[in-house]
Amino acid sequence: MAMPDATECEIRIDGAWRSVSLGEAHARHSSAIKRCPTCHGRVSINVNGTAQGGLFLQHRRGHDGCPLMPARFTGEVSLHPQAVE
Ligand SMILES: [Zn+2]
Repeated sequence: MAMPDATECEIRIDGAWRSVSLGEAHARHSSAIKRCPTCHGRVSINVNGTAQGGLFLQHRRGHDGCPLMPARFTGEVSLHPQAVE
């Protein structure tokens, strides 16, 4: 099964969640609250230390129901226990 690509996150603007690319969130909304588009857990955007300089989503708290955390994912999608709504 192909894992979803974590290239977007959701940020809250004026009380509404909007999907934006990681690049845009990082460059223009660095202080906004961000959440994972899949499990709605709080995330931060980290800069990958490689030469490509890629950005990646990091969950503030891990859980095992999010396919964007393949290392922990159990195969069943569930909302984050501390999901932000
Ligand atoms: Zn997630």
